[in-house]
This record gives sequence, C-alpha cells and structure tokens, in this order.
Amino acid sequence: AKQLGKNNYQLYSMSKDITSYKKFVLEKDMRKAIENEEFEIYFQPQIETGTGIIKGAEALIRWHHADWGLVSPGEFIPLAEENHLVHKIGHWVIENVCRQLRSWKDQGFTLRPIAINVSPIQLMKKGLVDVVAKQLSHYDIPAKYLELEITEGTLLKSEKMVLNTLKDLRELGIKIALDDFGTGFSSLIYLKEFNPDIIKIDKAFIQSLNAENNREAAIISSVLHLAKGLDMKVIAEGVEEHSQLEFLKQNECGECQGYLFSKPVSRKTFEQMLVTGYLK
Ligand code: C2E
Ligand code: CA
Ligand code: CA
Ligand code: CA
Repeated sequence: AKQLGKNNYQLYSMSKDITSYKKFVLEKDMRKAIENEEFEIYFQPQIETGTGIIKGAEALIRWHHADWGLVSPGEFIPLAEENHLVHKIGHWVIENVCRQLRSWKDQGFTLRPIAINVSPIQLMKKGLVDVVAKQLSHYDIPAKYLELEITEGTLLKSEKMVLNTLKDLRELGIKIALDDFGTGFSSLIYLKEFNPDIIKIDKAFIQSLNAENNREAAIISSVLHLAKGLDMKVIAEGVEEHSQLEFLKQNECGECQGYLFSKPVSRKTFEQMLVTGYLK
C-alpha cells in the first residue's frame, strides 16, 4: 500500500508539473499568437426553437498551438485575464467579427447578430466602447448585429466603470446577454438592476432536465415565465437531446444552442449552414 501511495504521488506530481509547464508555455506563446495568426473564431448557431431557423451565432475563440494542438478558451482565457492579454485578444475578436460581418454582407448573406464573449476584465478598462464603435463604423456594420455576452460575475463587480461601459455599449445599440444564467449569486437582483436584453440559461440546468426529478424543469419554466414578463429574450444553452428540445418548445423558450443542432464550427462550415438558413 505504501508503494502504491508513492507511485500515485509521483503520477500526481508529474501531471501537476505538466499542467504548470503547459501554463508557462501557453502564457509565453500567447504574446505572439495573434501575429502568428494562431487564433481562429468558430461559430455556434443559435436556433429559433420552434422552426430550426438560424437566428444568430456565438463567436468562440480557438487557439491552434504549434506544440499543444487545439487549446480551448477555457484553458487560455483565464491565463489571458491574469496577464492582461485578454484586452488584445478581445480586440482581435471584435475586429474579426466585424470584418466577418462585412464579408458576409458583401457575399449577399442575410446578416444575423453575432454574440461575442467579453471578460469582466475587459469591461473594467477604459476604451472598450471606443474599440467597438470604431470597428463597427470602419466595417460599416449596424450595431444591432453585435451582441456581447457577459457573466453574472461581471455585474458582481458592479463598479461604476463596468456599469457605465455597459450603458454606453447599449446606447450604441448593442444588445447585452447575461451568460451562464443561474450559476452565479443573486441572479434575480441582477435582472432587476441590470435589465439585460437576453438571458442565456446555463447548460447545467438544461442537461439536468434528463434526470427523473422535475425540479430543474420547474426552475427553467419559471425563468422563462419571468423573462417573458420582463420582456427579455431567452436562449437555452447546451441543448443536446430531443427531450430537452421538446421541453423547451413546450415552454416557449425562444432560442436554443447546443450540440443537438451543431457544435461550434469554422467560418466555412457556418457559411454552408447560412445557405439554407436553418438546422434540423
Ligand atoms: P461559454 O461562453 O459558456 O460558451 C459555451 C461553451 O459551451 C463553449 O465552449 C461551447 O463549445 C460549449 N457548448 C456549446 N454547446 C454545448 C453542448 O451542447 N454541450 C456541451 N457540453 N457544451 C456545449 P468553448 O468554446 O470551449 O468555450 C469555453 C468558454 O471560453 C466560453 O464559455 C467562454 O466563457 C470562453 N470564451 C470563448 N471564446 C471567448 C472569447 O472570444 N473571449 C472571451 N473572453 N471568452 C471566451
Ligand atoms: Ca442571437
Ligand atoms: Ca458565452
Ligand atoms: Ca454560457
């Protein structure tokens, strides 16, 4: 037993070393990743629940790293938040989405709003509004085609700066979506204070709809009811199964997003979807 314990410890300590080595390398390489064109934006369609029509998409960043392969944003965005590269990366995403919208427009596609994730750190620094306004006007794209997704954590930092930035963004005509709804604290207080345009119900709720107990179902239908009363749109995230979709249909959830329809896909694949304009 002693022997096993020791081996386990060595395994543990080795994987810990790999993790911190990887962190170290990613952090170092992140500085050059934009210039090296290692980032790419994937799009995950957002679907009108009853019809399958593609109403928009969420932009999700991907990093193709020479040695580590595809690195997920869940891994490197937190590092970028620590070393403040999240501003540079965030600007890259905003510019690229605006350029993409321009290109779709020029190709004759009907434009749909694209949602961009913004980290609380980005909202705490001056200048985000200017960056967004500048890119929109440079590519001549109406603000209604951009949505920004923020998490409840962002509102937790209810510093004047954050609230002012959000207010200015909305004055530009950009819609704000409250991401991962239900996972933070005091969600209801934020709804009242902040009054977002869109609520995204976190995938944890949708996925536990499978379970036999109906508590999640009760929570989701209450959220849908509440959102209706407050005149907010709702998107259900992480929809993977038909039974979940059925429930969301019955409860009149406006839009769905999840693997049942499509994983996040490359620009090219998304364009093929836009040709028909709906997913079944
Ligand atoms: P998020 O904003 O909550 O994005 C949803 C995540 O759920 C995405 O992971 C998406 O691929 C995944 N997902 C979508 N449908 C399903 C489903 O049906 N089942 C399951 N199990 N998962 C699903 P991804 O792309 O790895 O992104 C992870 C997180 O990284 C995002 O969570 C977001 O917080 C952050 N992120 C992604 N792109 C950006 C970005 O450009 N800027 C910033 N600041 N953060 C980003
Ligand atoms: Ca949308
Ligand atoms: Ca999101
Ligand atoms: Ca989410």
